[in-house]
Amino acid sequence: MAIEIPRELLPVDGRFGCGPSKVRPAQIEALASVGASLLGTSHRKTPVKNLVASVRERLSTLFGLPEGYEIILGNGGSTAFWDAAAFGLIERRSQNLVFGEFGGKFAKAAAAPWLEAPDVRHAEPGSLAAAEVVEGVDVYAWPHNETSTGVAAPVQRIAADGALTVVDATSAAGGIDVDIAQADVYYFAPQKNLGSDGGLWFAAVSPAAVERIERIAASDRYIPEFLSLNNALTNSRLSQTLNTPAITTLHLLDSQLDWILGNGGLEWAARRTAVSSGLLYDWAEATSVTTPFVSEPAHRSPVVATIDFDGVDAAAIATALRANGIVDTEPYRKLGRNQLRIATFVSIDPDDVRQLIRSIDFVLEHLG
Ligand SMILES: *Cc1c(COP(=O)(O)O)cnc(C)c1O
Repeated sequence: MAIEIPRELLPVDGRFGCGPSKVRPAQIEALASVGASLLGTSHRKTPVKNLVASVRERLSTLFGLPEGYEIILGNGGSTAFWDAAAFGLIERRSQNLVFGEFGGKFAKAAAAPWLEAPDVRHAEPGSLAAAEVVEGVDVYAWPHNETSTGVAAPVQRIAADGALTVVDATSAAGGIDVDIAQADVYYFAPQKNLGSDGGLWFAAVSPAAVERIERIAASDRYIPEFLSLNNALTNSRLSQTLNTPAITTLHLLDSQLDWILGNGGLEWAARRTAVSSGLLYDWAEATSVTTPFVSEPAHRSPVVATIDFDGVDAAAIATALRANGIVDTEPYRKLGRNQLRIATFVSIDPDDVRQLIRSIDFVLEHLG
């Protein structure tokens, strides 16, 4: 017998997935309103180029880019960026902090035959790995927020001469505050806090990163056109991409940036996600069958809350929630824990998180 959660306990919007994640209805309305003036028009003409320029401008404002930094973009999402970085950003060897799936994927991409084997620093899922300065390493890389486990890492430059600090911000950008001056490359895809769809990557790059990109591009290393960061750099400055971008993705991103900036920017967004995730962590600590998966409170992500269940089948809870329109609370598939993973991205209303908690409590009371 399916559990029916009373209407008054349900969130207004039932999307709590970690990516693709909630797109606010106002963004979809804004997209519909541009209609034929944008969608289905050439990405080499003014309407789309203006959109790319607007996105670059608004991202620069959001992150308060330091002097000399710029926003570059390309097709293929963060996964494509990992390969692009192996071709065009790592000179000889990277150090990769791996404390979950996404950090691990970059480490794999960095194990390219033309590079020295990466120095991989593993930590158990739910904890945080630390960087260490090593001779010969020229890129230090880790995720700002490890989406598979709900661990957030500090963004702090590694003080090693000539080395770049490269941070995967895919699930952090727009939801966690950051001092961009602490990174040389802060890259992300926009389908998480930035409330858009997949398919593109963006990166805030420092002058040192630009110098590295240009130097490797001028060397005799083979670099495929599609994965060339130097191509991305040149095209981005012209408000375009090498090949056709997803115009819808750009537009959804632009309206989300407008919304975040209009509400007060990154500080506002960070406060809002901290409120939402705090509700979940407090509840998980106060409830007998739940505990936050990340034991160290300082490492708990403000945008991806992972909650372990003891003596109750979390998958059954996720199924019951789904039957009531609350979707994507399942844990990261490869983590294999008895857990719910709940996004508290900036688009998600803290009041909806309160309702989600009431809904989970109801399911806990009624699960056989
Ligand atoms: C979602 C995610 C990715 C993958 O992004 P794609 O655009 O699907 O390639 C990479 N890194 C992190 C931290 C993510 O959360």
